[in-house]
Amino acid sequence: MERQDKMNLDRTKLEQELKTRWAARNLRCYDEVDSTNLEMIRLAKEGAPHGTLVVADSQSAGKGRLGRKWVSPKGTGIWMSILLRPDIAPQSASMLTLVAALAVVKGIDCETGLPVQIKWPNDVVLGGRKLCGILTEMSTEAGDIRYVVPGIGVNVNMTEFPPEVSETATSLRLELGREIEREPLIARVMEAFEGYYEKFLKTQDLAGLTEEYNRRSVNLGRQVKVLDPAGNFQGEAMGIDSQGSLLVKMADGQVRQVISGEVSVRGVYGYAL
Ligand code: ADP
Repeated sequence: MERQDKMNLDRTKLEQELKTRWAARNLRCYDEVDSTNLEMIRLAKEGAPHGTLVVADSQSAGKGRLGRKWVSPKGTGIWMSILLRPDIAPQSASMLTLVAALAVVKGIDCETGLPVQIKWPNDVVLGGRKLCGILTEMSTEAGDIRYVVPGIGVNVNMTEFPPEVSETATSLRLELGREIEREPLIARVMEAFEGYYEKFLKTQDLAGLTEEYNRRSVNLGRQVKVLDPAGNFQGEAMGIDSQGSLLVKMADGQVRQVISGEVSVRGVYGYAL
């Protein structure tokens, strides 16, 4: 790979940009961590407060879902995790990953105006390629949530990708043709997250966010392939319900409710479309 720009995150600038009440108010910035989720889980166990944000310039072992790897080169992306300590049922926590996706879309829209969209449940895509991935991890104790950690990886300034993702990934810089400052973008995502999170807490589901989520969905009204370990199937994506499940209409008119977890969704022609 060609050498990429190496620019450290400017913590002071990020603090000046942030207009949140609680999100990212306890801010931890690192040059390099193994994974921002792993670092956050360590901090959570030490008692870090709700809203703590870990941001790293690079991750040596960035994680995707189901043990997959997240490519996180130095200085070119936003690799961050936020700590949440919601008083909700553990079964509701996976919806927070959709809340995070919506916040990333709004943040990117605010800063760049790019028509980014969500690929259900929680990838942010542009022109059919993946711009951001989200991995949410949770810990419970005696049926109560101890913490939920959505980890967010946004491809910002990289100009090329390693072969394993070069066909499916893109970055803001590749799409815009110029560099983007990461600090304001982190701030916009955190501001959006704070608002959406509070809306989510009111009903403890996505009822107040479904419409906006579906409006931002790349899948809506399109044929999708559902890659399910129990058997793949195809149908038309009708949007999400208030629990964050994807409703897929089969050829016979039957509507299947697809729950995230082990399932991945692809477009009929490729990764997203
Ligand atoms: P999905 O559910 O779409 O398969 P995951 O949420 O599990 O994806 O994310 C991990 C996958 O994302 C990896 O297997 C790899 O294909 C892809 N990936 C890894 N790093 C990046 C990156 N920086 N940008 C875009 N895609 C990536």
